[in-house]
Amino acid sequence: MKIRNPRTGEADYEIDPLDEGAIAAEAKRLREGQIDWAAKTPRQRGEVLNRWADAIEANLGNIVPALTADTGRAGISKIEAISVAGQIRRWTEQAPKLIATGQPTGQATSQPGITTSTQLVPYQLIGVISPWNFPMILALIDAIPALMAGCGVLVKPSEITPRFIRPLMDIIESIPELAAVLSLIEGDGATGAAMIGNVDYVCFTGSVATGRKVGEAAAAAFIPASLELGGKDPMIILADADPEKAAAIALRSSIVNSGQACQSIERIYIAKAIADPFLESLVRQAEAVELNHPDINKGHIGPFIFAKQAEIARIQLEDAMAKGAKLLAGGAVEKLGGGLYLKPTVLKDVTPDMEIISEENFGPVIPVTVFDDIGDAIAQANDSKFGLSAAVVSGSIEEAEKIASRLNAGAVSINDGSLTSMIWDAEKSSFGYSGLGASRMGSSGLTRFFRKRVLIRQSGDAAQIASFAEENFA
Ligand code: NAD
Repeated sequence: MKIRNPRTGEADYEIDPLDEGAIAAEAKRLREGQIDWAAKTPRQRGEVLNRWADAIEANLGNIVPALTADTGRAGISKIEAISVAGQIRRWTEQAPKLIATGQPTGQATSQPGITTSTQLVPYQLIGVISPWNFPMILALIDAIPALMAGCGVLVKPSEITPRFIRPLMDIIESIPELAAVLSLIEGDGATGAAMIGNVDYVCFTGSVATGRKVGEAAAAAFIPASLELGGKDPMIILADADPEKAAAIALRSSIVNSGQACQSIERIYIAKAIADPFLESLVRQAEAVELNHPDINKGHIGPFIFAKQAEIARIQLEDAMAKGAKLLAGGAVEKLGGGLYLKPTVLKDVTPDMEIISEENFGPVIPVTVFDDIGDAIAQANDSKFGLSAAVVSGSIEEAEKIASRLNAGAVSINDGSLTSMIWDAEKSSFGYSGLGASRMGSSGLTRFFRKRVLIRQSGDAAQIASFAEENFA
């Protein structure tokens, strides 16, 4: 398969997707490795994973350039690789405590003389299928806690951004205990689909359309699925907010990674009282944002990673303009050196019938709606099939939290935006079409990879069949 470079538009890389036989063989190898891996203590597993974190940090020079070629942006590629090492260390520290507290022994029950002990039994093999927008983090965000739980993990990253796989596999292969239980394979949708029958649990991150197919295939295979899907995150800005600061928050949260983030702010609702200074500041700040073209080491945002996504953004903008939206900044997808770029695009006079309001955009696009009545703003923010996350900005934290509690979303940033990209400690659910299954954040990020086995101990006399004689109940 030829792979397009997002900066040049050229197909300058190739992958060789694994066929069904090779996927089955890889799954079998990982299942064999998992037996010794699960027999290790959590601390022993953590020791191996910490060596992996060290090796990632020592090999940034190999991984970051590959990730940069995959995505067309340099700084965030470095952040991605470093943050993976950070996540490994976080889980190696937290998992042993969580596993110990999850296995209480000698618990009293409602029946005298009967006590219980709980065992956590890891699924043997977890399958991970991941998207292209943060290729390395999203390939490993579920894999790291699954490994700490004692599972083997087979990962199929996106075919749009596969260049980081080989340097990462070189590192994994330098640590034999890890290579026995973790493998990243090259392939496309067919590879992902073929994986599902070979694993015991599937973690999928990607679009709603594919998530639905993965969920159905998992149900047919009778395995659990964690589905982390799209979003259309709203931000509500109240009249007591500082318009300049609110504009800075709105801009950054909407355009980081060129808007190619599930938790990107995609709709702004601004109180009428501060709408004019807010829009003036937003446009001024948006116009100061620079593309990282031609020099990848300068500027704020890069190209669309996936050419089709640029086309989606273009069609949605066209639809909005045809329905009466007013363009205040940006607006045109540009082809520069073969890459497809969009400067931060600010729109006002948007309406709910526009795709830019109802569908995920995944570009640096900021549609702004002015509201008079907060009840109306909340109703519009909640009028979405998605419910990934949201944000509220206000001069009063208490007021912001009151509004946040009425939003249909699994995470709400207060006086900031997209904080779920930084804070992974607390559990959150994905509401609506944004996902299904246990939280990948917080402790359930680990505990979802266990089944529970309870040992129920009788210390008294076991009941005799005579106690069930019909005569006793007549
Ligand atoms: P996608 O659904 O097109 O692809 C995701 C993965 O699924 C890829 O690896 C692809 O090869 C694989 N795939 C395709 N068809 C398959 C099939 N039939 N069976 C199994 N696997 C298959 O998504 P994308 O375009 O790569 O990613 C963008 C989407 O991901 C956006 O909607 C974004 O919001 C979402 N996303 C969500 C989160 C989150 O945490 N909720 C995070 C990042 C991205």
